[in-house]
Amino acid sequence: MTFSIESSASSASASESSESRGAPLAPAIAVRDLDFAYPGGGDVLKGVGLSIQRGERVGLVGPSGAGKSTLLMHLNGLLPSDLPTEAEARVFIEGIPLCRRTVFQIRRCVGFLFQDPDDQLICPTVGEDVAYGPLNLGLSQQDVVRRVRRSLEQVELAGYEYRSTLQLSLGERKRAALAGVLACEPAILALDEPFSSLDPRARRTLTRILERCGCTMVIATHELDFVVQLCPRVIVLDRGQVVADGPTRTVLGDSALMEQHGLEVPLTLRLAAHE
Ligand code: ADP
Repeated sequence: MTFSIESSASSASASESSESRGAPLAPAIAVRDLDFAYPGGGDVLKGVGLSIQRGERVGLVGPSGAGKSTLLMHLNGLLPSDLPTEAEARVFIEGIPLCRRTVFQIRRCVGFLFQDPDDQLICPTVGEDVAYGPLNLGLSQQDVVRRVRRSLEQVELAGYEYRSTLQLSLGERKRAALAGVLACEPAILALDEPFSSLDPRARRTLTRILERCGCTMVIATHELDFVVQLCPRVIVLDRGQVVADGPTRTVLGDSALMEQHGLEVPLTLRLAAHE
């Protein structure tokens, strides 16, 4: 297999720098008093604060328009478009302030899966697409081929290297996009509505794949039953504010809280309550 994308030199990951300084392990993600408004719009995030430890899998839920995607995009510097200076930073990844100086280092550490895989898949074939990130990290051809193979196996698309990205089902496109993210071996995954528009089998496949990933994970989703299955902890966002943060079954099982914030107790918890 050959891939022909220009590669550039790699830089240290956030994780490597933090540990090499010998400092106690900082949280994977810390957000402190984060405000945000789109140009010409009202406030979308208002004083958001949260801390996520390494290896945690956290669901980010809330009604449409709550600010989930907007918050997620702050975790690897997709927003704000004018990145803060170090002194202004409000997002810290493994203790490193996310700012103009560190954004590329942080993007190596935080992999982002877009809701629509077509926003992510940019190459004609699956293999080239998955290779794109590793090539840009400056890895050798041999390492790139190894990572492509391993990532495709991880997402249950082994042997798809030469398939056209245009000739895949939506579930396969999502998994191919995820393989591209995983091929860069991020320590943290930020997933925006990974289950949306998938049929039940494709959702189960994706759940199985995510369960096997060892990374720290933040999953923004409306699919609360999958949060129950995948995430021991959930954060509820409403109107740009964190309104609840705690054990998934406790938070999502609180019918008054769910109703207050435009959500519903997930079916699995309702059924469990009647057993
Ligand atoms: P959620 O993911 O919880 O549905 P979003 O983060 O997508 O919420 O959106 C939060 C708010 O920001 C909504 O009111 C939405 O209309 C607005 N918004 C989202 N993207 C943009 C944008 N690119 N420009 C202006 N407003 C936006």
